[in-house]
Amino acid sequence: MAHPPDLLVAGGGIGGLSAALACAQAGAHIRLFEQADAFGEVGAGIQLGPNAVRVLQAWGLGAALDGVVARPKALQVMRADSGERLATLPLGAAMQDRYGAPYLTIHRADLHAVLLAAVQAQGATALRTGCAVHAVAQTSGAVQMQLADAAGQGLTVEGDALVGADGLWSRVRGAWAGDAAARYSGHLAWRALVRQADLPAALRSQDVTVWLGERLHLVHYPVRGGEWLNIAGFVEGPRPPDIANWDIAPADLPARAGGLPAALRDAAGPLGALSEAVPHWRLWALCGRAPVSGADALVQGRVALLGDAAHPMLPYLAQGAGMAIEDAAELASSLAMNDMELPLRLRRYALNRWQRVARVQRRSLRNGGIFHASGPLRVARDLSLRLLGARLLDMPWLYGHGPAPEVLSNQ
Ligand SMILES: Cc1cc2nc3c(=O)[nH]c(=O)nc-3n(C[C@H](O)[C@H](O)[C@H](O)COP(=O)(O)OP(=O)(O)OC[C@H]3O[C@@H](n4cnc5c(N)ncnc54)[C@H](O)[C@@H]3O)c2cc1C
Repeated sequence: MAHPPDLLVAGGGIGGLSAALACAQAGAHIRLFEQADAFGEVGAGIQLGPNAVRVLQAWGLGAALDGVVARPKALQVMRADSGERLATLPLGAAMQDRYGAPYLTIHRADLHAVLLAAVQAQGATALRTGCAVHAVAQTSGAVQMQLADAAGQGLTVEGDALVGADGLWSRVRGAWAGDAAARYSGHLAWRALVRQADLPAALRSQDVTVWLGERLHLVHYPVRGGEWLNIAGFVEGPRPPDIANWDIAPADLPARAGGLPAALRDAAGPLGALSEAVPHWRLWALCGRAPVSGADALVQGRVALLGDAAHPMLPYLAQGAGMAIEDAAELASSLAMNDMELPLRLRRYALNRWQRVARVQRRSLRNGGIFHASGPLRVARDLSLRLLGARLLDMPWLYGHGPAPEVLSNQ
């Protein structure tokens, strides 16, 4: 039987830590390199569908998550202009019963901290911060990665395989010749976190609520045990030219500086009041790539991509991190096939993942058009939501994916 693989992981976000945890549980030796000086996550909330929660629970993270998640009771879809409720999908017990795991919402820093603590507790992974990958080379039996620390000191490490989990602007992916760069999607994301206690009672909510407007939509949901409300608004428009380097780092904008906050101020009902209640927005440019078109987009030789490095997507199915978590589970189960050559195991990972992630990428893109529709498309959308309600919002192909919980926990 082959020796346990010596795996290098580039990037310590949700994807990289998930990969480290799952692959170490599958017996791999892991060295993970993160460019930031400290592990952490910027941004605000994240929704986790039962497909992702099932995997996290199988990794033994259920109890740690219980302490920090919120458990929304329902998904509500509303019209932003009139405040009309178009459809409701029960979450809570309904999701648990149907898919064997709940639908959760969480602050991404909390999810990241749970994953990091689990990787550290396992003790089998060497974690190094302040180390940025800048080049990758493969030989027939190994892969080499060149890194630089904050002082510019170089370091070369060698392993049996490399997992590129270094996000949208992946340097590992960049080492694959001929790949197009990520591009601005034409959509801006405005994000805010507000303590529920600081909101007027009518604005406090323990549901996931989506407000549909023309060329914009807004989502809010509880995080941190329900004590905070996470708000994300998405607007179509050109990229503001005056913010430097904002593909990578979000810009901090003062409240009501135009864009979404201005549009909300004019909206009917609770949305207008919500915009008044948000003291501070942060702005992101959403960038992406075309959906992956084959297994080669995920693996080449001894190098595998995972998460946003492999398949960035618009957040309109709320599944980018979910797909990174699923990727990690699949990578670990492929790596555990010790009787196969390592490149074949990686190939298996890519073959088992690419159609799934491409479908989620495509659906996320399509949702953008549906959420922001005007004219006849909007009329048809609203009619379908009123008539079909939960049947339209529930997605068994998405939430029911993967092995049953008992199979996962026996891996
Ligand atoms: C507005 C918005 C809302 C979202 N909502 C949801 C949601 O509700 N549900 C959901 O599942 N997903 C959601 N997502 C998507 C989700 O945030 C991402 O898909 C997920 O965080 C990707 O994780 P990752 O680890 O692959 O990449 P990243 O989070 O980008 O992590 C990459 C890591 O690699 C490091 N790195 C980068 N370059 C290097 C280098 N050269 N060397 C070493 N390290 C490097 C970075 O510092 C970082 O730590 C949302 C995204 C946005 C923008």
